[in-house]
Amino acid sequence: SLSIGIVGLPNVGKSTLFTALTKKGGLAANYPFATIEPNVGIVDVPDSRLQKLADIVHPGRIVPATVEFVDIAGLVKGASEGEGLGNQFLANIRETDAICEVVRYFSDPNVMREVGRTADFVDPAGDADTIMTELILADIQTLEKQIPKLEKEARRDKELAPKLAVAKRLVDWLNEGNRAATMDMTDDERAAARELFLLTLKPIIYVANVDEDALGEDLAPIDGIKPIPVCAKIEAELSELDAEEAAEYLKDLGIEASGLDVLARVAYSTLGLQSYFTAGEMEVKAWTIPVGAKAPQAAGVIHSDFERGFIKAEVASYDDYVTLGGEAGCKAAGKLRMEGKDYVVEDGDVMHFRFNV
Ligand code: GDP
Repeated sequence: SLSIGIVGLPNVGKSTLFTALTKKGGLAANYPFATIEPNVGIVDVPDSRLQKLADIVHPGRIVPATVEFVDIAGLVKGASEGEGLGNQFLANIRETDAICEVVRYFSDPNVMREVGRTADFVDPAGDADTIMTELILADIQTLEKQIPKLEKEARRDKELAPKLAVAKRLVDWLNEGNRAATMDMTDDERAAARELFLLTLKPIIYVANVDEDALGEDLAPIDGIKPIPVCAKIEAELSELDAEEAAEYLKDLGIEASGLDVLARVAYSTLGLQSYFTAGEMEVKAWTIPVGAKAPQAAGVIHSDFERGFIKAEVASYDDYVTLGGEAGCKAAGKLRMEGKDYVVEDGDVMHFRFNV
């Protein structure tokens, strides 16, 4: 499953946020038998469309899409030089699909910062830069190890030339202080770059851990990316409440949605993901697919047999399904389409697959 690594300097609120995430996560409801590592939290992606579908088909249960967050403790200055722990942190990040960096915007004289900084010194851009520098340095090391090997292999195998070329271009780009993701690349180059296992090629989300009274404020972008304002302290409190109490508390605070809900959604779209739905008596369920996935690939998310034996899909767009009151209504109105293997699935499609076993 797709995972997002939570990183950040010490004392920025990572653990507070992670604990809040796991407490409210869909874990108990949807993964009763799963063994999950203590540093992994599976979080529901809120989607109001699920309830609308459930109002039509009255299923036994509703199963939302999920994203997995991994708490990667203690990425610190110098990690890329570190033999032991530093390397371990970087190895953990390497296994995730995206990076979520928590940045300290709150000011609290009682919460220490790293050595040499006073506790109330707030410098989000500088902090983000410290972490990015470590990631960039780690990537330069990765490339410097791979390039000589690639050069040797490329002499024998001509097909490796593009990968070698992009690796060389990337190392220059990184040495200028840039992250890999911002380099101009063709689709083929990007595919080759993915095989180089770079940390800074991963999508990055910045979470601004702000003071309570700064929640509504518009924040300046970091490295061209708009941070998501979250107050970890409030999220920790919210995670202790049931849904009704939490809604009440949010209203009192004058906030529309919990920051974690916003984070789960942004994370989902940052990863280039979308949902299609299945709707039946047993369950209404959101299935996660990459944007651009075709019908057989979408079927394969349910079961690999569905992909292998794919014949066709019955598809209604979400809007039609809701407006026309479900499958029968769509059929009567001629809005239930039969789609073949080249159909590119749209976000929100309600689907039913026909397949050979
Ligand atoms: P980590 O080292 O990044 O995992 O940080 P923690 O989550 O352990 O938080 C470090 C300290 O900051 C703890 O004492 C938290 O209670 C405090 N803290 C976390 N979030 C906030 C916040 O939004 N506001 C304030 N004032 N303190 C916070």
